[in-house]
Amino acid sequence: MTETITEQLPVNGDLWQATLQWQPSDQQQALFDRLYNGIVEGNRQVNLTRITEPDSFWEKHLWDSLSGLVPWYEPEKPQWLPTVKRVIDIGTGGGFPGLPVAIARPNWQVTLLDSTRKKIAFLQTLCQNLGLTNTAFLAERAETVGHDKKHRAQYDLALVRAVGPASTCAEYALPLLKKSGFAVLFRGQWTDEEEELFMGALDTLGGELVAICPWETPLTQGIRHCLYVKKVEKTDKEFPRQVGMPAKHPL
Ligand code: SAM
Repeated sequence: MTETITEQLPVNGDLWQATLQWQPSDQQQALFDRLYNGIVEGNRQVNLTRITEPDSFWEKHLWDSLSGLVPWYEPEKPQWLPTVKRVIDIGTGGGFPGLPVAIARPNWQVTLLDSTRKKIAFLQTLCQNLGLTNTAFLAERAETVGHDKKHRAQYDLALVRAVGPASTCAEYALPLLKKSGFAVLFRGQWTDEEEELFMGALDTLGGELVAICPWETPLTQGIRHCLYVKKVEKTDKEFPRQVGMPAKHPL
């Protein structure tokens, strides 16, 4: 697979600057364009995303993925901010949020995890073509990886977007984090009722909700919330529960 550059994404430097106080370098912008064209092309064989129009791709995939990193871009870094080396994107699908993060943060080692083997095989080839050497790939269920010694308690940061209820995402993420590591859960709307249920799940899993960042997406004003969850206690070895349970019966 070789991706052909047929369309370019908007640069939107002022929007990056206003929201993340960051802008992609020319090299990163070129990688975003190649990522976009590669995904659009790959979509013909593997169902990766319905968002393929350049402005929507920029907002709903690139901007949305990097909005979760806003604390790392703040001039006065929050005290709770962890130092990050190893990142895992759980249920990465077409590579979001993991691929934009790998491009924006070349010093972070980003593992892309998805249970659909075809998606992971595609992402591996795409990353080879893009020359993204800070990526690794796992075609597995999060429930299985969470009990594998090579991965349990090994990550500084877990990213989870659009993989189910918040407590399901937390059950996938917390076992994979080192103590004091963080999960960023990307949510749309976020209600008090959801938060109440979620707090119970976090108690069970050894997590603490440290911050919630509400956003409006910069082009279409969609509602987003990024939840920052710190691992404060070792997660009990019964979690994650067996395959299917976290989604069928969220904590
Ligand atoms: N995170 C991507 C995004 O925001 O565009 C993809 C979201 S897609 C709706 C959910 C993805 O999670 C699918 O690719 C699915 O295969 C994967 N997934 C769901 N449950 C999973 C699990 N237990 N372990 C690993 N991957 C899972």
